[in-house]
Formats: sequence, C-alpha cells, structure tokens
Amino acid sequence: MALINIYHLYPGHLNLYGDRGNMLALCRRAGWHGIDIAVIPVEPGDKICFSSCDLLFMGGGQDSDQQLVAEDLKSRRDEMRKAIDAGMTIFAVCGSYQLLGHYYVTSQGKQIDGLGIVDLYTETGQKRLIGNAVVNCSLWKPPRTLVGFENHAGKTYLGSSLKPLGEVITGYGNNGTDKTEGAVYKNVIGTYLHGSLLPKNPWLTDYLLQKALSYRNQKYQLLSLDDTLEKQAHRATIRLASSRRHKLQSTRA
Ligand code: GLN
Repeated sequence: MALINIYHLYPGHLNLYGDRGNMLALCRRAGWHGIDIAVIPVEPGDKICFSSCDLLFMGGGQDSDQQLVAEDLKSRRDEMRKAIDAGMTIFAVCGSYQLLGHYYVTSQGKQIDGLGIVDLYTETGQKRLIGNAVVNCSLWKPPRTLVGFENHAGKTYLGSSLKPLGEVITGYGNNGTDKTEGAVYKNVIGTYLHGSLLPKNPWLTDYLLQKALSYRNQKYQLLSLDDTLEKQAHRATIRLASSRRHKLQSTRA
C-alpha cells in the first residue's frame, strides 16, 4: 500500500484562517484514494527526518509568530535546500511562503530574514489585502483555477526568473499590482491563499499527493473521486469573489 509521510511545520505557530484544514484535506483525500498517511507535527527544536519526509506543509502566521519560528527555520536551511533540490514537495501558505524568501519587513519596520531559498522578498504595504480571491494557474495543462481567502499586509515581489503560481483574476495576490499570485520553485508551492485552500481546490490536493508519491518512486494511480461538494464550494467562492469585485468597482466609480 502507498504511504505518504507529511511533516507539518510549526502547527502551534503557523495556522491562520483555517490552514489546518489543508492537512485534513490531504489526509481525507489520501484515505479516499486508498493511500496511508502519517502526519508528523514539528515545533521549533524538533527533528525533521528528511530521508522519510515526502511532503512538508507550513501554514500562515502573524508577524509575531513568524518572528518566533524564523531562527529555527533558518537552522534547517541546508537540509531543506538539499531536500528541495532532490525534488521534495513543500506547500507553504502566506506567512510561511514569505519566510521561504529573502526577507519580510513587518509593519513595525522589523526585518525578519527568511530562508532565501525562493527568490522573493516581502515588504509591508499601506493597507491589508483582504478578501476572497480567484487565480488562474496556467502552469498546469489545461489551466486550473484556484480559489481562496487572502489576508496579508505583506507585499511580495518575485525575482525575474521565478514563476508565479498563477495570475490574479479577482483579489490582490502577491502585491496587489502585478497580478501575480504565489510562486512555484521546483516542487515548492507558495501561495497567499488560506481558506482553507485545499478542500475547495481538490485538483491541487491531488497534485500534492501525486508529487509526494513520485518523489519516493511510489507508483500509484489516484482514483477518480466524486468531487461534487468540493466543486460546489469552489464555485461558491468564485461567486463571492465576483460580488466583491463588483462592490469594489462600484465604490471606485
Ligand atoms: N504576517 C504576514 C502578513 O501580514 C502574514 C499573514 C498571514 O499569514 N496571513 O503579511
């Protein structure tokens, strides 16, 4: 039977707007596909056994929590870089997405240094970027849609050769100006979307499970699941996001 070991980094610190739901979605969907899952929570100071880690998940966090875990995270830089180069998948949301980059400057003007593995940096803007978002992901063939909820003060800017996860259709994404959302570097996916994200976007959940399986050369065909409810939730978020867009447009008119 196929088995995936998921390491959940800092669940006690990085967990905003339902991010833990991503873990629930990964576990539940894996179960439906007939895949065994082991979840290993990792708090600062705990060991990560990279030789058995198939997928690493990190959620979002407030500035104070980001600051709290940043040193511990940096102490893992070399091992993480090695694992990423070897093809390990990381899925990082908002605050932890920011920490994969070079630095994040908080609203207090404090610079939190990140891992510097993904070529991006983040600075706090004037206003918080909040609301439901819709993103077109054309790195996938055929292109896919992601829906989620964003709430961040940080504005993230990608290095010129770094690919965004998608293009913002509704919402703010990385910085509210260049229409990019998230980033993809090797098998690392960073995004601003909470919500939680995965229950409403089952295609991404399956993509992560598939990546984790192939990283360990586990040949396993995912089943075709009944996604009726997930698709309803996906469409409902698109409707919510589009009513938000109309509201924004009429306020500006
Ligand atoms: N503290 C960061 C910001 O405000 C990240 C917040 C989050 O993870 N939602 O930009």
